[in-house]
Amino acid sequence: MNFLEELNKRKTFGIISHPDAGKTTLTEKLLLFGGAIQTAGAVKSNKIKKSATSDFMEIERQRGISVATSVMAFEYRGLKINILDTPGHQDFAEDTYRTLTAVDSVIVVIDVAKGVETQTEKLVSVCRMRNTPIIVFINKLDREGKDAFDLLDEVEAKLGLKVCPLSWPVGMGQRFQGVYSRYEKKLVLFRPHGKQEEDKIEITDLNDPILEKYVGERPAQELREEVNIIEEVYPIFNREDYLDGKISPVFFGSAVNNFGVRELLDCFVDIAPAPLPRITEERLVKPEEDKFAGFVFKIHANMDPNHRDRIAFLRVCSGVFQRNTNYLHVRQGKTMRFSNPTSFMAEKKTVIDEAFPGDVVGLYDSGNFKIGDSVTEGEKLHFKGIPSFSPEQFRYVNNTNPLKTKQFNKGLEQLMDEGVAQLFTRESNGRKIVGTVGALQFDVIQYRLEHEYGAACDYEPVNLYKACWVSCDDDKALKEFKERRKRDLSYDKHGNLVFLAESAWTLQMAQENHPKVEFHFTSEF
Ligand code: GDP
Repeated sequence: MNFLEELNKRKTFGIISHPDAGKTTLTEKLLLFGGAIQTAGAVKSNKIKKSATSDFMEIERQRGISVATSVMAFEYRGLKINILDTPGHQDFAEDTYRTLTAVDSVIVVIDVAKGVETQTEKLVSVCRMRNTPIIVFINKLDREGKDAFDLLDEVEAKLGLKVCPLSWPVGMGQRFQGVYSRYEKKLVLFRPHGKQEEDKIEITDLNDPILEKYVGERPAQELREEVNIIEEVYPIFNREDYLDGKISPVFFGSAVNNFGVRELLDCFVDIAPAPLPRITEERLVKPEEDKFAGFVFKIHANMDPNHRDRIAFLRVCSGVFQRNTNYLHVRQGKTMRFSNPTSFMAEKKTVIDEAFPGDVVGLYDSGNFKIGDSVTEGEKLHFKGIPSFSPEQFRYVNNTNPLKTKQFNKGLEQLMDEGVAQLFTRESNGRKIVGTVGALQFDVIQYRLEHEYGAACDYEPVNLYKACWVSCDDDKALKEFKERRKRDLSYDKHGNLVFLAESAWTLQMAQENHPKVEFHFTSEF
């Protein structure tokens, strides 16, 4: 198979949802279809549950599971499909945001009873920043839930997506009978825990009286009316619009019953994008270019002090990545070669000789990589679109063992490079502030500083609402802003100016008083 064929057979995507909507279950069913796993239950949930805060071994065990499921690849209809896992736990949302920079499309899972939940809203807004193509799967139709039309309204209103239902449920909960696939023009009947494959009934004309025979008179009539409404109200499906992120196809089903999943997968395989180009500060990098380039989007550290290695996950963006070949680590300006690059097939880790655009390679690393680093055949490229997001929780961090200052600084720096949290240094007093998306990270940092670096820290509360990156074209206005807001200024680890707002009100006042200064909620703008 030549390079372009390899490239075009790849589809790399992520599944996102609010915890418990059914992401793990759906992932597992997809892997079963692809034959990557044989039994249900093989994909462990990567949910990190916050039990007792001191239960770090449990966190570590769960992180171990999550590295095994970081990338799951399977073959289906001659294609190679890479699912990049995203942690469901909101304290690890930052990890998920970064993983989304490495996918080419996403599937959003929504619980039919709960509708659009907070975590889904956040994650979809990150996808929309990059116009990532989105397919929506409404799950748990075997339970009573919200009316399908109301749900679509909710998806449009809360997620800001224009939807196009490509399947439609016949009933719900106790009365759930199946889904009509508008995409394939087929009715699929629901038999709980049954093999629905034989129950696919082809109905090319919904007015065919055969419909009554299968689902009964009233449901048949309702289905016809509802499909009519859909045709009038929602846009006609067009792949280009989907690829541009302008419309999102919607599917209905029940993951746990493996129902509606094949319809979703078959459509996904038809329409989802092959590896897409990536933007760098220098130029657009196209997957079909013959020279290899990729970037690190996630670093997984081993918390066991006896095995200090880390795995850096690199997305191949162009060319072919090859084992034991000299590549340039652009930020360090250093040549590196990788003798044991790994790929992940569900539970199996294997050393690979080559990888193509869209693939993710795990590189063993002893501390060379930071999130966002580029690796190339020599060109100095800097990939964009891997921003930091304004954290939601802040604390001062203190070094409590002055004899271990070096270890403290080094540990903190490495943990920040891994993306565990963000560090801001306050200009007025030089104090360090750790910002995270979730409270769990504070415990993780404290634990890891002690166990991996032999350093100790404690925290002090700091009253902050948001950290905003600041930019301004007018030097005079910037100078004035810096003088007046001295108390609220800090620098991130790259030395970028960051405004620390104590409340929504302080932020608003700063924006009003300094109209020429721009405030950004992500580090890239
Ligand atoms: P995640 O947190 O999004 O990964 O959710 P899981 O896949 O772990 O599912 C959460 C719970 O919902 C589990 O108990 C699943 O068995 C259940 N579940 C998943 N899909 C369905 C479904 O289609 N119907 C019903 N009734 N339960 C489901």
